[in-house]
Amino acid sequence: MSEREYQVCTNCVMDTSDPEITFDENGRCDFCENFINTILPSWQPDERGFEKLQKLAEKIKKDGKNKPYDCIIGISGGVDSSYLAYIVKEKLGLRPLMLLIDPGWNLNVANENVFKILKSLNLDLETIVVDWEEMKDLQVAFFKSQVPYQDTPQDHAIFAGLYNYAAKNGIKYILTGGNYSTEGVKPPQEWTYLNDIKLIKDIHKKFGKRPLKTFPLCGMFKYKLFYRYVKGVRVIHPLNMVPYDKNDAIRILEEKFGWEQYANKHYENIFTRFYEGYWLPKKFGYDKRKCYFSNLILTGQMTRDDAIVELSQQSYDEKIAMQDLEYIVEKLDMTKEEFLEIMNGPNKTFRDYKNNEKLLKSAIKLAMKVGMEKRNFRT
Ligand SMILES: [Zn+2]
Repeated sequence: MSEREYQVCTNCVMDTSDPEITFDENGRCDFCENFINTILPSWQPDERGFEKLQKLAEKIKKDGKNKPYDCIIGISGGVDSSYLAYIVKEKLGLRPLMLLIDPGWNLNVANENVFKILKSLNLDLETIVVDWEEMKDLQVAFFKSQVPYQDTPQDHAIFAGLYNYAAKNGIKYILTGGNYSTEGVKPPQEWTYLNDIKLIKDIHKKFGKRPLKTFPLCGMFKYKLFYRYVKGVRVIHPLNMVPYDKNDAIRILEEKFGWEQYANKHYENIFTRFYEGYWLPKKFGYDKRKCYFSNLILTGQMTRDDAIVELSQQSYDEKIAMQDLEYIVEKLDMTKEEFLEIMNGPNKTFRDYKNNEKLLKSAIKLAMKVGMEKRNFRT
């Protein structure tokens, strides 16, 4: 890749650490352009949205009559899914089953948050514990592959576990905490890539040691087509249909449930903390806080000046990073030397392995054309 001159967006904090970023003549980036021109016009986080959401809730109740649950929510203990549980139960009166997927890395504070919410809202929980030997094998394989996306094994298990559970148990509505208020600026493909089963399988085939017998897998076509049109599973994003300000949500969760905050979004999990705070910035120069802060800037929840100050500070205390590193390598049965050799080895991307990029991108392009996908995918 040719070296590009450093440039940062004049409106948000995305910059050329995303190799595919583009800027207009005013120095505004394509994430801003997409957010302002594609997401904002159809986003109704107000009374209009809530009215639509209430109508939808009536339909969900009707469809779920005589069933033990009318919908399912994957809960992590983080702000989004915790606040979603509150809205769905208290504001909409739905009967969700809560599903906790445990890939082996959840922090106690996150699990405690889950139990506080369940108890206060009187909700039922189902837990799926991912087979640790398989999880470990896939995670070590991913490290050895040298790709940036070390969150793929966990994220995929959590996502596929939820979708597979809903389809298998005849639950027609998946309610997710996905939202434009904090996740509308999607991390660039070079940083996170796509949900590509072909890549997962190829990396596992090259570097894994044991078969993935129970590990939850679900490709894009399975959930977008088979689950949607054959099994009739619908996915709804209620947080896009109510006012959702992160700080307000945190305050409500703390007051109502004794919910506890931890530093930074997604840091409910030791592995994610290490991956986002150490692996990605140190090995690849990618800082996911830039996406998150840009999103908060675009929605008026943070100023650009505050974001710049915060980005200049380390997100992750060096001492905690080293503790996490030792904990992680030990849990994965690796040595510190082995890990550091990988860390200092050549950086790779999905292009170094078998992948379905072309096919997936044509599908996303189509979804964007019909307005089903509004986030900034460069197809
Ligand atoms: Zn921008």
